[in-house]
Amino acid sequence: GQCVTHCPTGALRERDDTTSFYRALEREDTVVVAQIAPAVRAAWGESLGLSREEAAVGKIADALRRMGVDYVFDTSFSADLTIMEEAHEFVEKFTKGELEEDTMFTSCCPGWVSFMKTQYPQMTGCLSTAKSPQQMFGAVMKSAFAKKLGIEPERIYAVSIMPCLAKKAEREMTLFYEEFAGHDVDCVLTTRELDRMLKADYIDPHTLEDVEFDRPFGESSGAGVIFGATGGVMEAALRSAYFMVTGENPPADAFKEIRGVKQKGWTEAEFDIAGKKVSIAVVSGLKNTRMLMEAIRKKKVHYHFVEVMACPGGCSGGGGQPIHDGYELAGERGENLYFLDKNAKIRFSHENPDIRTLYQEYMGEPGGKRAHQLLHTEHRI
Ligand code: SF4
Repeated sequence: GQCVTHCPTGALRERDDTTSFYRALEREDTVVVAQIAPAVRAAWGESLGLSREEAAVGKIADALRRMGVDYVFDTSFSADLTIMEEAHEFVEKFTKGELEEDTMFTSCCPGWVSFMKTQYPQMTGCLSTAKSPQQMFGAVMKSAFAKKLGIEPERIYAVSIMPCLAKKAEREMTLFYEEFAGHDVDCVLTTRELDRMLKADYIDPHTLEDVEFDRPFGESSGAGVIFGATGGVMEAALRSAYFMVTGENPPADAFKEIRGVKQKGWTEAEFDIAGKKVSIAVVSGLKNTRMLMEAIRKKKVHYHFVEVMACPGGCSGGGGQPIHDGYELAGERGENLYFLDKNAKIRFSHENPDIRTLYQEYMGEPGGKRAHQLLHTEHRI
């Protein structure tokens, strides 16, 4: 039966999608590809008795392969792709002067996007048109990857492991690609569903090995990993926007003051990029978001670029994560992601070699024609 969860993004009820996934695994002509979201790696081991050190993300890849998944990739890869498209969109709007009065809002959180559409429909046009990492990943699977495998997009079944219940609804977004009209993503499973499947399949988490992701979409930067924490999307986007404007990298930690929840309500900051002031704000939790939106609407504040995450603390505290009564672990899990970023060998999305190759071989330029067709969407009310 259904049970009510603590999803903070609205009255979403938990839906079990594992049956669809198991069926796809049984179909012989189907290629099952999985993506694992950044925030999942910071929490999946909690209800399986694994310590943070033991719960390496490669072990999830091992578990999925043992279940029969053909290819396992990292959503952090497509988070880098989202950053490329979103940073490009921001730089374009900013340099054209379109953000002198308006604001550009991030759009990778479906909880926030539906809040915007229902509560502030007149501002929906201010959302970035870049798809979220989950959707971009599916779009790459059903275009560039299908081509690489030499198969029709219809034969690919794309499953995502997400910290989020709202991602199940985001999946309904339609992809039109050449002859193909379908979904970017076929099935969304939460961290809790993953944990349940491991138990149901009698996979002992202590026997899992820390294996590598598949190539060629296996590489990701630290910027892609921090997507899972509040402020992370903004920080990652600014790192690449700075590069796009100046042709040089900023210090990787140049924008770190926006990490975590430090100020009451929302966090604001101003940065200098090539002699121009860029003002930004970061907010998480829908109560705080409403306060910020009211301030923007009444013109009490103005920002060029705003990151919104519906769950307090960002996706690390998402509604699909393991629940520990009375404890909110979003902050701790977020710090884990910043630790991974600090130690990552690549800190900038635009330096991810797999992303560069994807643009060179298939996607063209950020914001270009093909990128637009596959990686962007219109936000209709
Ligand atoms: Fe989902 Fe993350 Fe948004 Fe929460 S903050 S609704 S987990 S995308």
